[in-house]
Amino acid sequence: MKSYTVSELLSQNIAPNTEVEIKGWVRTFRANRFIALNDGSTLSNIQCVVDFENFDEALLKRITTGAAVHIKGDLVESQGKGQTVEIQATFVDVLGDSDPETYPIQPKKHSFEFLRENAHLRTRTNTFSAVMRLRSALSFAIHKYFNENGFYYMHAPIITGSDAEGAGEMFKVTSLDSKNPPLNDAGEVDYTKDFFGKETNLTVSGQLEAETYAMSLGKVYTFGPTFRAENSNTSRHLAEFWMIEPEVAFMDLPGNMDLAEDFMKSVIQYVLENNKEDLEFLDKRLQDEDKKKPQAERSPMTLIEKLKFVTDNNFKRVSYTEAIDILRNSKPNKKKKFKYIIDEWGADLQSEHERYLVEKHFNCPVILFDYPANIKAFYMRLNDDGKTVRAMDILFPGIGEIVGGAQREERLDVLKQKMAAIDIPEEDLWWYLDLRKFGTAVHSGFGLGFERLVMFATGMTNIRDVIPFPRTPQNAEF
Ligand code: ATP
Ligand code: MN
Repeated sequence: MKSYTVSELLSQNIAPNTEVEIKGWVRTFRANRFIALNDGSTLSNIQCVVDFENFDEALLKRITTGAAVHIKGDLVESQGKGQTVEIQATFVDVLGDSDPETYPIQPKKHSFEFLRENAHLRTRTNTFSAVMRLRSALSFAIHKYFNENGFYYMHAPIITGSDAEGAGEMFKVTSLDSKNPPLNDAGEVDYTKDFFGKETNLTVSGQLEAETYAMSLGKVYTFGPTFRAENSNTSRHLAEFWMIEPEVAFMDLPGNMDLAEDFMKSVIQYVLENNKEDLEFLDKRLQDEDKKKPQAERSPMTLIEKLKFVTDNNFKRVSYTEAIDILRNSKPNKKKKFKYIIDEWGADLQSEHERYLVEKHFNCPVILFDYPANIKAFYMRLNDDGKTVRAMDILFPGIGEIVGGAQREERLDVLKQKMAAIDIPEEDLWWYLDLRKFGTAVHSGFGLGFERLVMFATGMTNIRDVIPFPRTPQNAEF
C-alpha cells in the first residue's frame, strides 16, 4: 500500500479502488462518519469516510479537531458533494490526540490577532497555510528567476563590522557581560575585549558586501535576513525581515529599473501559474471581507486582478521632481489633508504621499527616481545637477515602498566627499573604497523587502501575518 499526500490524491488521477495510506490532521469529524483531513500539502482536505459500525467507539471519540491520524482505505469516487474522490477507511489510528476542550484552533473563524498569539498553530488554518505556501513558492520563484538570468547567489554576512548604513537602528552583537562590561580609561565599554575585538551589529542590508561580489562575479544577489531596531510599530515594518538584493556590474539606473520590473513581474507570474488554488482562496476571502465595508472603501480589483494588473502593465516611471509637482497640486495637499504638507522641493516623501501617487494619481506601480541627494544614502550616484542622486524606489498599491535601489557612486573622489560630509571615516569602509580604486565601473542594484512582496501577493494587510514568527517592538515570542 502506497503512502500519499492529499495533494497527490486529488491531482494524480489515481485508479478507482486503489488502496491508499495517508497521515494528517483532522480538521473536522462530522456525523461520527466524515473526517476532513488536511496534511498541509494543499489547501483542500481529503474526506475519509469511517463506517462507525466497524470501529471501536473509544477510537472514534479520539478523532477530534487537531488530532494527528493515520488512515488506510480505498480511494473511491465521492458520493457526496464538494469533492471528487474520498477514502473509504478500513484502518484508522490516532497518532496524536488533541483535546477539543483546549485545542486553540476550533473549526470557526478566528481573528488574526488571536492567531498571531498562536502562531505555532496558525498554519493549521486555511488562510495561514495558503499564505505560507505562497511565501515558499515566491522564494523559489526568486531563486529560479536569478538562476535563469545568470546571477550568482551570494550569502552576505549576518554579523557585520560596518555600521555605516544603519547607524542608530542596528542591533548590537556582543558576548560581553552586560552587568559588568570591561571599561577603557575613558570609562566607556571596551569593545577590544569583546568577541570580535570591535563593535559588531546585525546587518541592516547586504548591499555593500554584495557590491564587492558584483565587481568580480558580475551579476549577484543576496536573499537573507536583515534586522532593524527602528521603533516603527507599523503594519509594514518588522525588526527581522528578509531582503532580496541583486547587484549588477556595468548596469545603470534605467537597466536597474528594467531588471526590477521584469523580476517583479516574473515572480508574480510564477505564483499566478503555480499557486492557483491558494490564490483563489485568498481572493475569495478578501472579497468576503470587502463586502462588509462601505462601498467607497471597497477595492476596485480582486486580488488576482491586482496581480495580473502588475504582470500586464508597465510600471510608471516618474522623477522625484515630477512627483513633487503632482503632490503639491493635489487635492489632499491643497486641502491640508496630508499630515505632512508638501510645499518645497527636497521634502522626504511619507507613506501617505507614496500611496496617493500609486493609488489615486497613477493607479499602477510607480518607479520614482532621481531623488534629492540629502534624503538618500551616501553611496548613491550623484547626478550632474549636483543635487539629485540616481536613486529609485518602487511603490506598489496597498503597500507603498516595496523596493529601494540605486546606481552606486563609482567615482572615488565623489564617494570620499560624500562620506566626509556625513562623518563616515574612510578607514571604516576601506574595502568599499577599494572597489573604486581598482577597476571601478558603473553598477547598480536594489533591495526588495520580501515580506512586502508576500503581502502584495497574498493581499494580507499586516506584515506580521506573512512571516512565520514576527519580531516587532516588545515581541519576540516563539
Ligand atoms: P521604509 O521607508 O518603508 O521604512 P526604507 O527606506 O527604510 O523603507 P530600504 O532601506 O530602502 O527601506 O530597504 C529596502 C526595502 O526593504 C524596502 O523597500 C522595503 O521593502 C523593505 N523594508 C525596509 N525596512 C523594512 C522593515 N522594517 N520591515 C520590512 N521590510 C522593510
Ligand atoms: Mn525604514
